[in-house]
Amino acid sequence: MGRWLLHPCFYFFLVFGSIAQGWGDEGHRRINQAAAQIIDGSFGQYIKYYSDSLANHAPDPDAWKRNDPEEGHRHYIDIDLYSAYPFIDLPPTQAELINRFGAENVRHWGIGPYWIEEYSRSIIEMMKADDWAGVIIPLAALGHYVADLHMPLHVVANYNGQLSGNDGIHFRWEIPMVNTYIDTIIPVGAVYQIDDLLVEGFKIVRESYVAHSIILRADSLARNSQTPEVRELLRGYDALPETSDYLAILYRESGQLAQNRMNQAALRVASFWYSCWLQAGQPNPKY
Ligand SMILES: [Zn+2]
Repeated sequence: MGRWLLHPCFYFFLVFGSIAQGWGDEGHRRINQAAAQIIDGSFGQYIKYYSDSLANHAPDPDAWKRNDPEEGHRHYIDIDLYSAYPFIDLPPTQAELINRFGAENVRHWGIGPYWIEEYSRSIIEMMKADDWAGVIIPLAALGHYVADLHMPLHVVANYNGQLSGNDGIHFRWEIPMVNTYIDTIIPVGAVYQIDDLLVEGFKIVRESYVAHSIILRADSLARNSQTPEVRELLRGYDALPETSDYLAILYRESGQLAQNRMNQAALRVASFWYSCWLQAGQPNPKY
């Protein structure tokens, strides 16, 4: 059904080029920048030293979609197409996932948590090989993938509200609302060791899945009070008229959720980076 062609992240990229998605370029930069400040010790110093690079390269994976047809479905998982909450019956490897559901379905439905684990493994190997210059962009990209799964509409089949009369919510929530209202990202809690990278990925997916209905409810409430013209605009990507209070209502009803997910994403990004280093055997970073 050409599902991946229709995914907002991919579509926005075709239409807007650099305005490409997850939390928007700016959101991704800010999540990686916040994550880079909170790791202790020698690895934390290395990460902090490269914090600007980690932030500047945070949007890169969205740009990779342009040249790599394998890239798009690494950024999300429509988990409710695979299973039912709490999604504990999914296989432990991507190969088994493909065996069970078929390559085409997997390609359309996404592989977010599986890709995060696989990608982390390649980072661990680079650290073991002392490739400290080469690992910066992959670390930035890992931050992107981890942050994407914290965006609740990256884990459901109804990723753009298209199944519930909320068409266009994906873009409105993650870019105009976030960029208008959310200034500061504060990672919540202390960086922690992740033993099982896939299990942690599914934990993020479950959190996001539970949260996604809050966004749809907020959108319905905000949308219902708009003029027919604004409701039509909401289906696309054009700016809304200044007189519209759509974004204000959307933020009032779901802004705290966006803030919480971004704060949580920053802590998780730092914890994934740190755990890759731990699993590499805590090698001494060189820079
Ligand atoms: Zn993305």
